[in-house]
Amino acid sequence: MTTAFRTTTPHMLRGSESYRSRILMGGLSGFESPIGLDRRDRMEALRTGDIGFVHSWDINTSVDGPGTRMTVFMSGCPLRCQYCQNPDTWRMRDGSPVYLKAMVAKIDRYKDLFKATGGGITFSGGESMMQPAFVSRVFRATKEMGVHTCLDTSGFLNANYTDEMIDDIDLCLLDVKSGDEETYHRVTGGTLAPTIAFGERLAARGTKIWIRFVLVPGLTDSVENVENVARICERFGDAVEHVDVLGFHQLGRPKWHELRIPYPLEDRKGPSKELRKRVRRQFQDHGFVVY
Ligand code: SF4
Repeated sequence: MTTAFRTTTPHMLRGSESYRSRILMGGLSGFESPIGLDRRDRMEALRTGDIGFVHSWDINTSVDGPGTRMTVFMSGCPLRCQYCQNPDTWRMRDGSPVYLKAMVAKIDRYKDLFKATGGGITFSGGESMMQPAFVSRVFRATKEMGVHTCLDTSGFLNANYTDEMIDDIDLCLLDVKSGDEETYHRVTGGTLAPTIAFGERLAARGTKIWIRFVLVPGLTDSVENVENVARICERFGDAVEHVDVLGFHQLGRPKWHELRIPYPLEDRKGPSKELRKRVRRQFQDHGFVVY
């Protein structure tokens, strides 16, 4: 496995230069990998959470949650977002198997740094909820260390998470990719209802939420769609601390080309200043703090 530094997050949080400047280290080094396990044993270990398939990890500041954080990018995603920046995370088998105990030991090594900065661990992807046993067991161990936990997800796999698992999540970066089923399906290939259900469960159990909405001209930018996203966010009440409006960009295009996957947004431009302003204003009019 080659070292996989990211240049963008899967969910388009930052441009490459800005993001790189905040990565302190990363890749997949330092984990003992269960290479010797046969396929059946691996599947069983995946089911129990003894191993997880990981694309990469890094240590960063103020990107995937508060403070200095270790962000772990899990492999595998059931959605196929037209604007995905990391299609190389879609297939779980393309990740590297990592032992639970190795991951927990890594977090333990950095725990003083996390505590001193108000940071912690973030699971991202791909779709982090595709490997619920591994992620939730790491979170349990992390909480026992007194370290902050954050899950970056679309919520599409709501059914994979029990309430007990949710109780170990301090903060969720929840992608609300569109405001109605039809647009959501066009954007992602999936369905919207599980995202709403997951957000409502998070709110009911006291987990804080940062909403992420990717603004793509001609795809997610209609006034009606943004209004519907804002109305969905209102359903989560005070759990929502802020909304991130993330402008579409083309930094992920080379990966689609490299993987020879037809890229639906080949010539799409990012949002204009005026469009960003209008969409931010729409969320603000619903009472949200918008970044
Ligand atoms: S949910 Fe999956 S397909 Fe969509 S942007 Fe994230 S990793 Fe890509």
